[in-house]
Amino acid sequence: MRNIITVITDMIFTRRCPGCGEPVDIFADSDICPSCLPGFRDISDKMFYVSDIRCLKAVYSFSGPARHGLHRFKFRGDGSAGIFFADRIAEMIRNEKYFDKNCVLVPIPGNIEKTDREYVQAVFLAKRIARKLHIGYVGDAMRKKKSVISQTKCRTLLARRENIANAFILNKRSASKLCGKKVIIIDDISTTGSTISSAARTLKKANPAEIYAACAARTPTHKDIGKKYIVRCPDNMKTLLVVAKGNSDS
Ligand SMILES: [Zn+2]
Repeated sequence: MRNIITVITDMIFTRRCPGCGEPVDIFADSDICPSCLPGFRDISDKMFYVSDIRCLKAVYSFSGPARHGLHRFKFRGDGSAGIFFADRIAEMIRNEKYFDKNCVLVPIPGNIEKTDREYVQAVFLAKRIARKLHIGYVGDAMRKKKSVISQTKCRTLLARRENIANAFILNKRSASKLCGKKVIIIDDISTTGSTISSAARTLKKANPAEIYAACAARTPTHKDIGKKYIVRCPDNMKTLLVVAKGNSDS
């Protein structure tokens, strides 16, 4: 049974399923409604090796109700879904071997021209995760160049990679806080990992000890296990993506 404070809080702020957005019974043990629960595919036991970072992990496969929830968070400003995903990412990071108080969270910056959304998802997530884990947060370590368009507007994988290569500029003053730290890059959804690789290349200039990444969801998840992708970016820098198999693929 959930504790009484949580139940009272839920009575004031109605619990909503992070998948379908419908109200959830306040006495239920799970935040997710019974019809969405089987569709949330947990992939937090898998590690994805993306160039320029130690490893990338995601909580869920970007499919089914997790996909619906992240779309509501991203495009309709559903903060309750955002809180759910932030808390799941925080739990995942807390269980990582590398996790300690030397970790600092850095969100992937949003597009400068963005006017249709009130907040940048990665910033929303990273701020809440930092509060939950009592670790540092540096929100302005880098910014996105004006010429970079939204990845969703790119039709092909190659176009996405070309768009995002060298997309970020280091803010030297803020980034100096990352020197010697374990930096964890936070994003809502990772597709090819090229955004995170590009961000990591930028953040390396601040001399962090290590760079990791954590996301709410990742796609694809199991179709590409064991595959290696070598991608050439416009600056001729190679990007290597290897997808590793986790403990379970059930
Ligand atoms: Zn639901």
